[in-house]
Amino acid sequence: MILPKTNRLTPEQLAEITAVVAEFGCKIQPIIGAVRTIYAIVGDERDELMINRLEGLSYVDRIDRIQSPFKLMDRRSDLATHRITLGGAVLGEELLVIAGVCTIDPKNPNYFHETAQAVKEAGAQVIRGGVWKPRTNPYSFQGDTKSLDILMEGSRRTGLPVDTEVMEEAHVKLALDAGVHVLQVGARNALNYSLLRAIGRAVAERDTVVLLKRSLHMGPLSEFISAAEYIAAFGNPNIILCPRGTAPTLDGYRNHPDESITPLLKEKTWAPVVVDPSHSVGKASYVPACALAAVAYGADGLCIEAHVSPNQGIGDDPKQSLTPEVLTETITQAKQIWNLRRPVKAG
Ligand code: PEP
Ligand code: MN
Repeated sequence: MILPKTNRLTPEQLAEITAVVAEFGCKIQPIIGAVRTIYAIVGDERDELMINRLEGLSYVDRIDRIQSPFKLMDRRSDLATHRITLGGAVLGEELLVIAGVCTIDPKNPNYFHETAQAVKEAGAQVIRGGVWKPRTNPYSFQGDTKSLDILMEGSRRTGLPVDTEVMEEAHVKLALDAGVHVLQVGARNALNYSLLRAIGRAVAERDTVVLLKRSLHMGPLSEFISAAEYIAAFGNPNIILCPRGTAPTLDGYRNHPDESITPLLKEKTWAPVVVDPSHSVGKASYVPACALAAVAYGADGLCIEAHVSPNQGIGDDPKQSLTPEVLTETITQAKQIWNLRRPVKAG
């Protein structure tokens, strides 16, 4: 829909926009109002170049799009009935909990194994463990490929699927060859379109799940959903959206908590939403409240950092990992909120 700056376009302006959209196989249908005339684009209005050319015309105020730019992730797409199952849980039917260490310590694998067992007992259905780490400080521990074996050993011992972050194409291949069940795309790479494409291509013929974090710098929600579309375009619709806080930070928290975007996402996309409260608030004492708020806002699950002995952990674990006791309590309360979300039965 083209909204002009004036009440209506001149015949010359109308001829110009008609010629622009015709190049993209579309037509213009004026909708004449009492005061103002607007101009519908009839046809597939998703071509970015067509929209850019129209927006560049001096007499065009703005373009309102009716069709969404994401074909597969749109909640009106045929994929809307698609269900993702992880660790025996069908997303949307029961609360999914992904929990475990921020960073696997390759020198002390037992912390990871003990944590994996503890988070399983707390009710998590997926174990997380960072093998490769995106660190702000280049001199901080960057992860170690050796940790991939520890991660997979944890999966064998617990019988649960595992999640780890991949930062480059080489990680994708290593993780898939090792049998990682959930590839995590981190906040720093959520706008790395060549990596998103590479992941989409690599998981196309598999049942691997991709957990896509929201970037610190994503603006409109459509930017987040379009990033997921890059992966889905290759054929694997097992994609979970993961809000994890954005920039600029809310003073005192690690990021600006964004668990409240879930209802907005669900209006646009069918994709399940699993919120990461750990990176959102960045301090263990704030994590449970953020986790519960996320479930109240309609999240399908939570991704929480936990450690049997946070002080002995590396990466984010000392500051933001929950102990198994607090994780157990948080999951119990989160499930109570989940149950409250069910519509109250009449009578
Ligand atoms: C993580 O999950 O440990 C992590 C680095 O997350 P994010 O990409 O959200 O910062
Ligand atoms: Mn972390």
